[in-house]
Amino acid sequence: MIRAPVQVDVLVAGAGPAGSATAALLAQAGYSVLAVDRAAFPRDKACSEYMSPEAVRILDRLGVVPALESAGAVDLAGMQLTGPSGATLHGKFSLGAHPAFRPTGLSVSRRILDTELVARARAAGAVVLERTRVEELLYDGGAVAGAVVRDCAGQRRSLRARLTVGADGLRSVVARRIGRRTWGRLHRLAFVAHVAPVRGMSSSAELHVGAAGYVGLNRISPDQTNVAIVVPSDRAGPARSGIEPFFWNMLGEFPGVRERVEAGEIVRPILATGPFAAWSSRVSTDGALLVGDAADFFDPFTGDGIYSALRGAELVAETAIVALSRPGPVTARSLAGYARRRRRVFAGKWIMERATGYAMHFPRLFDHAVARLGRREDMAHTVIGVAGGFVPARAVLNPVFLARMVL
Ligand SMILES: Cc1cc2nc3c(=O)[nH]c(=O)nc-3n(C[C@H](O)[C@H](O)[C@H](O)COP(=O)(O)OP(=O)(O)OC[C@H]3O[C@@H](n4cnc5c(N)ncnc54)[C@H](O)[C@@H]3O)c2cc1C
Repeated sequence: MIRAPVQVDVLVAGAGPAGSATAALLAQAGYSVLAVDRAAFPRDKACSEYMSPEAVRILDRLGVVPALESAGAVDLAGMQLTGPSGATLHGKFSLGAHPAFRPTGLSVSRRILDTELVARARAAGAVVLERTRVEELLYDGGAVAGAVVRDCAGQRRSLRARLTVGADGLRSVVARRIGRRTWGRLHRLAFVAHVAPVRGMSSSAELHVGAAGYVGLNRISPDQTNVAIVVPSDRAGPARSGIEPFFWNMLGEFPGVRERVEAGEIVRPILATGPFAAWSSRVSTDGALLVGDAADFFDPFTGDGIYSALRGAELVAETAIVALSRPGPVTARSLAGYARRRRRVFAGKWIMERATGYAMHFPRLFDHAVARLGRREDMAHTVIGVAGGFVPARAVLNPVFLARMVL
């Protein structure tokens, strides 16, 4: 068993994409890094497992793309969106006016992705402790100074760090303590299956929006497709008496989708999660930062939470490398640039996510916009590029684009 150091430069709570990437980048920069995760890897995660070319850029920087590809990751060309009354648009990463890092994104099971990222963090020099849960933060004169964890043997121990990074996901313990957390009014739940195979899949993912919510189809290997149903929580009550019958029932509300999925077989138990709209209005304080879902997550519809987690890790590294290089405690002041960097990088995406999430409450308007974008392919490529983080949000959030979309 690995004995963890009790004093490190950086303690990372959670070793999902945000935590592992943060651990890898800071260990690579020469700091002593300890990451802890309550799970044992490989582990599953309820996710549609779709990544834009911009997420792949960061995975490439971390050096994990060849391992993902040899483990079965498949190229992702773009996204096909079908509105409630059948209007469709097809946006492709390679055809937008702004060049992407590469023409395709990647789709791969989170079992594979997250395990590769943990391996990358270790290879960079970070210690990663699995089955170790953060229970409390440690404080020193009001500043965060590490955490109390419960390890795989059930022992509680104190881990001290100059900087503690909360990357422990949507229900983050660290964010609850420091983040001034807000839960959104969108109460949606997700039910995610792996099905082998789904009939008629192409190299683009699909999103089908209906009166009951939406369903995403995304090929994650040559023969498996991720099927994710997202419904308002008040529709999900029947799932308590049987998740699989509920799943098939809900699929029946999306014309044409159920028959294609029924042609295959569910090859992993259906995972349920939600509600998910939550954000932290404070992402840094004395001795600590938040990243990934612990900092902000709205709705899976516009996808790319993995991109935000990885990009957030880059922003943490930029900020922390400077803050840690100064002697003495890491103060809120030395970390203040992190929130500014996040706003600069993510503000447009946050507006798009929230606008899209609420627009789904108005099916006719939503359908109309999808139909308009479907007729103007250049505009569809732009929207997909903004959601994927490589086209600036102002390409969509401007009066000319918005008017062309609805008028
Ligand atoms: C239904 C659904 C579909 C989605 N589809 C997509 C998609 O197709 N593409 C995409 O890019 N994004 C998608 N997302 C979003 C994406 O899954 C998240 O944004 C992403 O996983 C965030 O990464 P993270 O590292 O911040 O958090 P996580 O991946 O949740 O990792 C957090 C880690 O922290 C650990 N942890 C939690 N609590 C503790 C604790 N107390 N102590 C120690 N460890 C702890 C967990 O075990 C976990 O390993 C989807 C989300 C949902 C809900």
